[in-house]
Amino acid sequence: MDKTNKNITDSSNLFDRYFKSNMAVMLIINPITKMIVDANPAAEKYYGWSHKQLLDMNIGQINTLSAEQIAAEMEKARTNRRSFFRFKHRKANGEIRPVEVFSTKIEVDGHEYLHSIVHDASEQEKAELELKHSHELMRYIIEHNSSAVAVHDRNMNYIYVSQSYLKQYEVSENDVIGKNHYEVFPDLPEKWRIVHQKALKGEVSSADDDLYIKDDGCEVWTRWECRPWYDSDGSIGGIVVYTEVINEHRQRELKINQLNHRLKSLITALQELTTSKTIEQVQNIVVHSARKLIGADGATLVFSDNNQCYYVAEDAMEPLWKGKRFPIDSCISGWVMQNKQVALIPDIYSDSRVPHTDYKSTFVKSLVMVPINVSEPIGAIGNYWKSNYKPDEIELGLLQTLADSAARAIESINVLNEIERKAVERTRRLEASFLANMSHEIRTPINSIMGFSSLLPDEESRDIMCNYADIIVRNSEHLVHIIDDIVMYSRLQAKMMAYQTMEFNICNLFHELKHIFAPQAQQKGLSLVFENEIECNNLIKTDYDKLKQVFVSLIANAIKYTEKGTIRVYAQKAHNHYIFSVSDTGIGIPKTEQDKIFERFFRGSNTRKETVPGTGLGLSIVKELIELLDGDVWVESNPDEKPGEKGSVFSFSINSRETK
Ligand code: ADP
Repeated sequence: MDKTNKNITDSSNLFDRYFKSNMAVMLIINPITKMIVDANPAAEKYYGWSHKQLLDMNIGQINTLSAEQIAAEMEKARTNRRSFFRFKHRKANGEIRPVEVFSTKIEVDGHEYLHSIVHDASEQEKAELELKHSHELMRYIIEHNSSAVAVHDRNMNYIYVSQSYLKQYEVSENDVIGKNHYEVFPDLPEKWRIVHQKALKGEVSSADDDLYIKDDGCEVWTRWECRPWYDSDGSIGGIVVYTEVINEHRQRELKINQLNHRLKSLITALQELTTSKTIEQVQNIVVHSARKLIGADGATLVFSDNNQCYYVAEDAMEPLWKGKRFPIDSCISGWVMQNKQVALIPDIYSDSRVPHTDYKSTFVKSLVMVPINVSEPIGAIGNYWKSNYKPDEIELGLLQTLADSAARAIESINVLNEIERKAVERTRRLEASFLANMSHEIRTPINSIMGFSSLLPDEESRDIMCNYADIIVRNSEHLVHIIDDIVMYSRLQAKMMAYQTMEFNICNLFHELKHIFAPQAQQKGLSLVFENEIECNNLIKTDYDKLKQVFVSLIANAIKYTEKGTIRVYAQKAHNHYIFSVSDTGIGIPKTEQDKIFERFFRGSNTRKETVPGTGLGLSIVKELIELLDGDVWVESNPDEKPGEKGSVFSFSINSRETK
């Protein structure tokens, strides 16, 4: 054996040993016939066919590809274009296994063969599937999270973005993947660059509610977090940014805060209403709270008053209708009260219930009006807006609660006022009856003093006692006069004087008055003239005694305050009432005192208090009596005028009852 042949024999022995003893599955295939030319024991073991069986087999019986596909793949191996393949191989027991095949061309005796090393790839494929699955799972988790996710590498190039990120930032995957973040968003605020840099150094940043304003001016509230991600060697591979738009959440939060705030205002208003003492206080609280409660541009309070809507109070950015009255049929508050319903009008100019002409000059575009005391409305509360606005259920509820509480507050104030009025009335009556009793008690001893002084026993002692007796009598008379005045005034005040009508003619009354006063006038050298322009057969129907009492007081005063001249008593009929007057040429009343003389206990500076007797009650009684007679009293007086024009004129009017 020459050296060359020996070498060949050695090498074929070596290959044979290598082939047979190799743990790896090996096949020798004829690329033309596709027949298995040889298979090693590892192949027999792996496939489950005997050596003999394998040598009778075509590779197409093992490889699951079609004959054409096998031919094409083999051609690649044969021409050295490819040596690594992934196939599926069938085993004797029918199992199909993924395999990796390393195939190279060998030449034996001038023939080409393919030497394939087959490696079972089941485990690897399983691992790959698991990896793929975990990638898909990760993607699934990210995509179904409410946050938009972007993953960047160390250079801030996009590696991955979630669908919600694309949607949120209105970009496509092509716009971003592989691109630099700062090139995609060149106007990104500096704060973000800082956040990214921090994350690249391992620091996590986040915010719970961050506001940014979009180019179109829209506000966007976000919650975000920026953190690093790590490579398998533990180094920072890049960053992940999670962003969640929380506009809805934020709006809900704002709504809750707003509601809390409104409830607090409502509670304050309710507390204030329960402690308010007057209707005016209620009015103020209602309009201020109503406006504040829903953040309206204006609020009004309307009361129903004699078939009219009376706009009593308002709190508005510009004046509305405070103090005005409108017929109940031609105002929206009237509609609310009559229908016992809320009026909710987002656009007043498209609602025929609104009297548009009354709104033209105002800022109002929308309104809501709720009734006060729904079952039997006594008024309404209105809220107004300068632009179109429709309050929601909650806002309406708040306003109606305010209206209901206002109704209760008004009701309690009315009840309290009534109780107070009754208490005052009762006190007045008690006082009056006390005074009446007291006067009786005082009167009795005085009367007896007067009686006794006129019954003094004899001439002599009467002479001695005369002066004292005069004084006693004068003072006693004065005392009686004071008491009579007080009693009369108290009874009038306590409404204890009943109105007693009777029919009479003025001539008779004047006759009686003349009879009473002629002596006094004559004594003072005054003329007393009665001028009656009313026919004597004209019957007047009123309270005779009270009318007489008025004349008595006025004529007595006229005589008292006049030193010379004339007292003129005058009567006249005008339409359905009568006008009377008592004029004098006396000292007159200073201008500054003329509106005070009807006050009780007021005595003018012209009385030289000590010398002119009086109580300061006469004219107060006159005023009360005339009020009782449905009349009016007034005075004209010239204290310092030229002689002849000096004096006072007291006039009064009364209605005759039959004209009522
Ligand atoms: P008096 O008891 O003081 O007269 P009145 O109530 O009757 O009380 O009158 C109140 C005041 O009005 C008097 O004190 C007086 O100053 C003034 N007065 C009333 N009548 C006349 C009058 N005819 N002339 C001038 N002053 C008068």
